[in-house]
Formats: sequence, structure tokens, C-alpha cells
Amino acid sequence: MVGEAFVGDLMPEETEVETVAEVEGEEYSRFLEDKVRALEERFGQLREQKRRLENQYRITEIDNQRLSRELKQVRAEIEKLRTPPLIVGYVKDALADGRVVLKSSTGPHFVVHAAESVDRKQLVPGSRVALNQQTLSVVAILPPSMDPLVYGAEIVERPDVGYDAIGGMADPVREIREAVELPMKNPEVFAKVGIEPPKGVLLHGPPGTGKTLLAKAVARETNATFIHIVASELVQKYIGEGARLVREIFQLAREKAPSILFIDELDAVGASRYEASTSGDREVQRTLMQLLAEMDGFSARGDVKIIAATNRPDMLDSALLRPGRFDRLIEVPLPNLVGRAEIFKIHARKMQLAEGVDATRLAALAGHGATGADIKAICTEAGMFAIREGRDVVRWGDFERAVEKVRGAAMKESQKVVKDAAFA
Ligand code: ATP
Repeated sequence: MVGEAFVGDLMPEETEVETVAEVEGEEYSRFLEDKVRALEERFGQLREQKRRLENQYRITEIDNQRLSRELKQVRAEIEKLRTPPLIVGYVKDALADGRVVLKSSTGPHFVVHAAESVDRKQLVPGSRVALNQQTLSVVAILPPSMDPLVYGAEIVERPDVGYDAIGGMADPVREIREAVELPMKNPEVFAKVGIEPPKGVLLHGPPGTGKTLLAKAVARETNATFIHIVASELVQKYIGEGARLVREIFQLAREKAPSILFIDELDAVGASRYEASTSGDREVQRTLMQLLAEMDGFSARGDVKIIAATNRPDMLDSALLRPGRFDRLIEVPLPNLVGRAEIFKIHARKMQLAEGVDATRLAALAGHGATGADIKAICTEAGMFAIREGRDVVRWGDFERAVEKVRGAAMKESQKVVKDAAFA
């Protein structure tokens, strides 16, 4: 009984153990599979994270390099700001033993040494230098000071106006070529003949007749820098300022040589010297004297030429017109009919003109007294009328209205002048 019972008890137990083992085995392998999958997934995540971190590392590396560079620059800047200031002085005399007599910007004169690195040849009276604060020895040569006005002068390295852009001025063009272009291009011609070329050229004529244009064209032809200054700007408020400006402008012209210095409205400083009554008059005179002195210091065969322009040659001081100064007068007159036609051809070159509109008829339409500037304005106005009516082609009627507008204003202006004169 007991044995039966035992067998009976044992049998089911054995089967159960087997099943449990089987079940556990299956679960275990599922468990392992899950575990492997989870680990693979984690591995993938970690690989991705590694890649991201590597990228970040590279970016940080680059940032680091950039910041180190910036740090170096900032340190250099701080170093620069910490260096003590240098004092500005002007050389008065260079002594034979290598020392220099100078005037510091604070006033007193000193005899000092110059640093080895300073070019001795540049230590000439008048040069501007930087001085060590303690020993006042010269540590560097500074460029000469220039007034902002001088920098404000119109300086064109190569003007874009050629002789072909000037109409109806055959005589002035020929004369200016002889007086300015030839001495600059072939100075030996004058040396051979044994004469001095004109030193300065004065262009005179009514406003808007192309005097500036002519000076620019010569500068272009001679490959010279064109420096344009209006003389009225030389008349300054403070005593001695105008004369200093003149000196600096001539200095600028020498530095930019070959150059053409064009002084417009010369009468603003060059008007006849009567008894100067106010300090303002005396200041204008001082400016004129400086201009004369600068012109005297120039060589006529040098590569700096001076061209001046005025609408009132009759007002000029005779000292300006003496030989060695503005000794060549060139008249730039109002253009005649042929001249006006030539100027129309230049300014209407790019315009589409209707049939029957030609330069000669336009020149007659513009009338006597029309200047080059008027003709340019007439062409622009006629073009504007055409644009207003949505056309590309400019008709005769547009020119008629343009002449009325441009010349009409001029006529009214002249009538007003006559009236004002009558009431004066
Ligand atoms: P201002 O005496 O008022 O200084 P200006 O005589 O120097 O006058 P410019 O400034 O040379 O005259 O001329 C003004 C404009 O008129 C020029 O830009 C040019 O377009 C035109 N012009 C004048 N004269 C001529 C000309 N002979 N041929 C072609 N264009 C001209």
C-alpha cells in the first residue's frame, strides 16, 4: 500500500519536474533573448552617444582654438593700451653728432638722441616725430599732419573725362595741351629750346563752359592725379589757417606727383589787394601771399602743374598774373553754334533721337549764350519729358520744352539781375 502510494505519489511528481524544467528552460532562453536584444539596443544607443560626444569634442576643440586666438589678440590689445603715450614733437635742426633739436608739442625746445631704428634722412627740419615720454628721444617719424579739409579736397587718381568728352573747345584744348601736357610729357623739348614752360595756367570764362572738364581731361592725358580745391574753402575763420591749408595742399600735390592741382574760383583769394580794412581781409591776403610763395617754390618743369579757374579775371591781383605764376591765360568762351552742336552730339550720344532731331538744329534752338552745362541740362530734361510720357525716343517737342525750362530760368535770372542793378 505504502509502495503503491509511493509510486502513485512519485509518478506525477516526475512529470511535473520535467515540465517545470522545460518551462524554465524556454523562459530562460526567452529571457536571455530579451536580455541580448536589450543589450544590443543599449549598445546602439551608446554608440550613437559616443558619436555625438565625438562631434561635440571636435566642435569644442575648434572653439577652443578660436578663443585662444581671440585671447591672444585681446592680450596684445591690453598690452598696447598699457604702453605709455608718446609725445609729439617737431624737428628744428639735426646736429652733426646725430642728436636732434626739437620742439615738443608742449612748447620748450630740447636736444635729444634718436633711436637707431629711425631713418636719419627723414630727420629734417619740420618733420613730425614721436618722442619717448621720459627721455624725449625720437622713437618714430610720423607722417605730416594734414587738415581734414585737405583730405576733403576732391582727389581723383585717374579722371574718367577725355578730350573727346569736350565739345567746341578746339582752341582752349590746343593751348592747354601746349602749356600743361607738353611740359609734363616732354620737358626736354623746352630744355632744348632754352625756355621755361608756363608754370601755372589760368582758365577764365563764364560759369559752366567746361573749365573743370578741361583740367580733368589734361590730368587724364598726363596720367596725373587730379586734385580739385575750391579757393573759397581756403578762406578760414582763424588767423593763419588759410595759409597753412595752402601749404598743406601744395605738400599733398608734391606727394601725389605727377599731379594737377586745380584751384577753382581763384578770385575768392586772388582778388586785387586794396587797403585791407578788416582782419578778415588781411587773412585773405595772407592766404594769397602763401599761394604766391608756394608757386615761386615750384619748378616749371616739374611734375606738379597748377591750373586755376575764374569767372572774373579782371578782379585778380596782378601779382598772380606775373611771369612764374599764372603766366598763361586761356580763355574758355561761350560756345558758338558749331561748338554747341558738338556739345549736343556728346551729351545726346546715348539718347534715341526721333527723326529730324539733329545737333545743328538743337544748337540753334538752345540759342546764343547757352553753355555746355546748359546743354547737358537740356538733354537731361528732354529725356525726362520722354520718360514721363512712357517713350524711349526723344522728340523735337521734348527738346523745345527742355530749352524753355532750362534757358527760360536763365533768362529770368538775367532779367532779375538787370532789375536788381536798376534798383541798386
Ligand atoms: P564753373 O565755373 O561753374 O566751375 P566750369 O566752367 O568749371 O563751371 P564745368 O564744371 O566743367 O564748368 O561744366 C559743368 C558740366 O557741363 C560738365 O560736367 C559737362 O558735363 C558740361 N559741359 C560744360 N562744357 C562742356 C563742353 N565744352 N563739352 C561737353 N560738356 C560740357
